[in-house]
Amino acid sequence: MKITGYRSLTAFHDWQRPVGDVNGIVESGITEVPVLLLETDGGLTGIGLGLHREIDRLFPAVEGADPRGVATLYDAMLSHVFKSGHAGATFGTIAAVDMALWDLKAKMAEEPLWRTLGAGDRFVSGYASGLCYGLDDAAFAAHYGQWAERGFTAAKIKGGRDLDRDIARLETAREILSRNTSRPALMLDVNEAWNTKQAIRHLAEIAKHVDLTWIEEPVRRWDSAGHARIARAAKTAVATGENLTGLEQYAPLFDAGAVDIVQAGSVWGITHFLRVAMAAHSRGAAGLAGRLQRQPGGARGGGGAEHDRDRGAGLRLSRRVRRGPADRRGRHRAGRPSGSWHRDRRGRGRQCSRRHRLG
Ligand SMILES: [Mg+2]
Repeated sequence: MKITGYRSLTAFHDWQRPVGDVNGIVESGITEVPVLLLETDGGLTGIGLGLHREIDRLFPAVEGADPRGVATLYDAMLSHVFKSGHAGATFGTIAAVDMALWDLKAKMAEEPLWRTLGAGDRFVSGYASGLCYGLDDAAFAAHYGQWAERGFTAAKIKGGRDLDRDIARLETAREILSRNTSRPALMLDVNEAWNTKQAIRHLAEIAKHVDLTWIEEPVRRWDSAGHARIARAAKTAVATGENLTGLEQYAPLFDAGAVDIVQAGSVWGITHFLRVAMAAHSRGAAGLAGRLQRQPGGARGGGGAEHDRDRGAGLRLSRRVRRGPADRRGRHRAGRPSGSWHRDRRGRGRQCSRRHRLG
């Protein structure tokens, strides 16, 4: 089976509430989720999520290849763009393709991806978190109350601008989750909003009120020296890594002893995730957390990662944004309502504008 083309769609995630962190709030609660669909000559389609603006540039690195060689193809993509750099937004495109390749590999093996990856169970331990920075106090408490109903015993909150507000919300989350456990795990994510001395001072104050399991991204993602100083000064674990766009970017943090909880963003791909996990293991780091948002199947109590749990929230695939090289070569014609752009057997493009709904 060979990779023959791609389609690119945009889904809309309706959170039905404001979502965001200290760096910005989406008041409408509607966020875009770019979707990349890799097509094959065997009738299977691989699905990858995340921005992939450079797909035209990256696709030649995988075109015509067997998707089962995903690790080799991942390195081929890195090599393909090496001279101009693979980090940042380019890494997102590599990740979307990588995710679609892994999806194809699992589909070709006729098994779920978690089994292809070697897991023994589809569930993982997780914590409650929902990009709640923009909620008022009542909505915040109601939101975490819903997590508690599902059995969660750990929660992460968003903060970083108002220390008193952050402490009050940690205490609220602790009280709510105490219905499930005598010692809820509590985490604070400030999304790189502090400087080093602020972090040390604020963590000392927080420690007077709650037992913080970890502080996430306390300072800028590249500041290994700052993370290391915080790690030495604070009792809580230091978590970071979800915005690093390349395995090599972790090395300064590891070398400085700056990270206790090694994280990788899900939009950076599965091969990246596996390699970061291996690197973390080699350094004896305590763990690795991904970020998932409303994955099909959801989480059982205490499972999953950062899930939105609002009832009725969902993804809507709606509009064509890009088309593969086959489409540019072929003729445009109105076709069956089966997707956006794709190549037919004779390599001709086909367009569709029908709305699809997922979950
Ligand atoms: Mg985070």
